[in-house]
Formats: sequence, structure tokens, C-alpha cells
Amino acid sequence: MKGITSAILSQNLTSDDFAALPIPESYRAITLHADEVELFSGVPVQDRDPRKSVHLDDVAVPEVGPGEALVAVMASSVNYNTVWSSLFEPMPSFRFLARYGKLSPLGRRHDQPYHVIGSDLAGVVLRTGPGVFAWRPGDEVVAHCLSVELESPDGHGDTMLDPDQRIWGYETNYGGLAELALVKANQLMPKPAHLTWEEAGTPGLVASTAYRQLVSRNGAAMKQGDNVLIWGASGGVGAFATQFALAGGANPVCVVSSPTKAAICRAMGAEAVIDRAAEGFEFWKDEHTQNPAEWKRFGRRIRDLTGGEDVDIVFEHPGRDTFGASVYVARKGGTIVTCASTSGFRHEYDNRYLWMSLKRIVGSHFANYREAWEANRLIVKGKIHPTLSETYALEDTAQAVYDVYRNRHLGKVGVLALAPREGLGVRDFAMRERHLDAINRFRVRPTADRCRTPQAGGFAF
Ligand code: NAP
Repeated sequence: MKGITSAILSQNLTSDDFAALPIPESYRAITLHADEVELFSGVPVQDRDPRKSVHLDDVAVPEVGPGEALVAVMASSVNYNTVWSSLFEPMPSFRFLARYGKLSPLGRRHDQPYHVIGSDLAGVVLRTGPGVFAWRPGDEVVAHCLSVELESPDGHGDTMLDPDQRIWGYETNYGGLAELALVKANQLMPKPAHLTWEEAGTPGLVASTAYRQLVSRNGAAMKQGDNVLIWGASGGVGAFATQFALAGGANPVCVVSSPTKAAICRAMGAEAVIDRAAEGFEFWKDEHTQNPAEWKRFGRRIRDLTGGEDVDIVFEHPGRDTFGASVYVARKGGTIVTCASTSGFRHEYDNRYLWMSLKRIVGSHFANYREAWEANRLIVKGKIHPTLSETYALEDTAQAVYDVYRNRHLGKVGVLALAPREGLGVRDFAMRERHLDAINRFRVRPTADRCRTPQAGGFAF
């Protein structure tokens, strides 16, 4: 792999040079093992330790099929789907691979006794398969994680509706937490020239998800002046929702669980911030009983911050713990848009507050290529910034997954794959200089208050 890394670092090779680079037979990858799916059998989800199930192995380089690209991964990131797959929750991801394996001879390559996970990358194209003309070896790229077959008419209005829509590196094999990755060429997007490899390798999944969920007409279609309640506003999807709200002229009301996270939201430009831990919001009296008095107190707190207005949009993902409150606090005619259920997927809410006040619940999942491209375009233009807080070596990925599961992180956690150290990959230094403060605002020292509120076991991908 050294030849490939040196070629990328040298920055003076042509596309033909990259196409001529020898590809090794195997590469190092973060894997789960099919023979370990019972590892946590009988262990409650909240007590499972992903450090036991996440491995670093050598795996064979897959054949590159039509419409595909093999990418040298300089850096990747930990997403929450990495957490779910490593906990084998709500089901082992090997079931997705088996299903993909039945689809076609190309799908069969994915059905292996190991699963190379990871749904982000920044790197360089090494090979393209037949029928790929938009990308060439040597192109510096990032990848979004939507893998579609598009053989059915259903996906041709919105590719997220394709019946064979999969999340790369979660529902497919050969993901981004590795030295090499196999993607469909229509997952590729240009790497922002002013960012390092590890900065560029972190936004893909979460920025695209937040863009569709909040901005796109397929989601909440946010407009100028909207008040937007954002749960986990300094976390993976939330920190991008906060930035999209601010960039689009909306007013984010950011909910977080520590002073460090509140400070990050303010650094992004948000004025309205609620520290849910400091203010002691308890939306459930016990496991089975919600506490509407707390929804009301929460609604009053939001009005304090908005000059008496309710929120037009609630950006939901915690799920069971917060959904009742989310439905309650949305304004008449407002939208609750959800992409996940981290704390539990069986939601309870008082339907009177939904129908009598003509509110809408909208489901949102990842993003189509156009939406992912728009999110990346805003990063390329320096209007939206990465949220990288810490970077781990590939060997330490299991610890990184554990830290995200325990809610010890801020923004996004990066992983170096082929990049030998942080700080490499910047091509436009002048632009970087202009945005340096914004790029660095999540890089604050870890503090004890980071991990006050571990996340419970629910599910989203
Ligand atoms: P993350 O980086 O861990 O951030 C989530 C934040 O939500 C946490 O930092 C926490 O912030 C807040 N939170 C967690 N549990 C909570 C609870 N019980 N009550 C209130 N707030 C809570 O994760 P992420 O990357 O943003 O992902 C969030 C969820 O979205 C995950 O379940 C993930 O799988 C899902 N997701 C879905 C899609 C999709 O396409 N469907 C895409 C991306 C992510 P505070 O502690 O600061 O409040």
C-alpha cells in the first residue's frame, strides 16, 4: 500500500500514472465477523461494548464491476450506523449482505463472512469499472453513502425510493473504514480543496442526511425565518442542521447536554441554546409514562428564546425519549421531521396535538445524489464547514466507535486510513486560511462534562 500512499502524497502524478499503479491483493480494513453475531446475546444493548466486535483484518481486494470505482481511502469517519452494526442491533448487518448477495453476481461479492464497515471516505480514485466516464484514476474525491441499482422505475424520481437502495458500508460490504473502498461511481463527489483528508472524510453521511431532512423539499423544506428546534445540535447530524439553518436564514433553537456543547453551538452562530442536562428536562416519569408538564416547560423555554414563537420545524432523531415533546412544541401547522430513533423506535405522542394543530410528521432517510451533491457543494464553497473534533488511527477505530456510542464525542470523529498523519491533503491554502476558525471550532479539549448523558439503545441506520 506504500506505493499508493506515496503516489498520492507526491501530488505530481498523472491520471495514467495512477491507473498504472499496482493494486495489492489484500488491504487492511475494519471488519465485523459473521461468526460473532451472537457475541452479545442476552446482553442489553446499552451494556454492549463495540470494542469486542470491531476488528482490523486483511481482506481481499474485490473485483471492480461496471459503474464502480476502487478508491484509496486517506481518511474516513465513525457514524452512528457504525455503532449499530458493531452492536449487531437491531439485526446483524450480515443479513443485509446476504440479501444483496442474492440480487446479482455483482451483489454476491458483498456476501462474505466479514463485513468491511464505514460510510464515509476522502481519498483518490485508483480504478474505474466499465461505463464510468465522469471520474478517472487520480481524482481526489469524497463519497456519499447511497448505493442504488436503479433497475426499477420507482427510484427514478428520487433515488432514495429505489427498491434496491442500500447504505454503502452498512448494507453493503467494502465500506470506508479501510485502506481501499469499493463504491458506485455515482457516489463520488469532489473533495473540498481547502480541507485536509480527515476533515473532508467526515461530513458526507451526516451533512447529506441533514440537508435532505431540513432543507430539501423531500424533507422539511425550511425557509428563511423558520424557527427550527434541533436535538443533539452539536452532534453528527445536528451540527450540520444547525449550520444549514443559520446559512438559510432560519433561527435554530439548539438542544445539547453540556456547557462545552452549548459553547460550540454559540461558536457556530446560534443564539438560542438549551442545555437539557443543566435544565433537567425529564420527559418521562418512568419507563412507561410521559410527563406532559415537562413538554409544557420545554415549550415555554423555547418561547423565552424565540420572543414568544413556537418552532416551525423540529429536527428529530433521539426518538422515544423526545418525540412526545417534539410533537407538542411544534407550532400549529409545523413539521416534525425524523431520521432516527436513537433512544428507542417505539414512539409515543399525544395525537390530539398533531391533528388538532394540523402538524405533519415527515420521515427522512439519507439523501439522493443531488441532495448529497448540494450539501458537499456548500462545503466546497466554504459556506458550511466540517465538524471534526478528534481523529483516530485506523488501529484505534474500535475505541472511536465506543466513544461515539458513549456520547463522549463532539461533532464528528475522524479515522486516518492511508493518510500517515493529520493535516495533509489541502490544495487551496488561501481559502483554508479564510475559513480556519470555522473549520477548527469543534477541536476543543475533551472535558469531563462531555459524557454526562450516554445514549440509550434504539435504532436508526
Ligand atoms: P451523534 O453524533 O451521537 O449525535 C446525536 C446527539 O443526539 C447526541 O450527541 C445527543 O446530543 C443527542 N441525543 C442522543 N440521545 C438523546 C436523547 N435520549 N435525548 C435527547 N438528545 C439525545 O449521532 P448522529 O450521527 O447525529 O446520529 C443521530 C441519530 O441519527 C443516530 O441514531 C443515527 O443512526 C441517525 N442517523 C440517521 C440517518 C438516516 O439517514 N436515517 C443518517 C445519520 C444519522 P446531546 O447529548 O448534546 O443532547
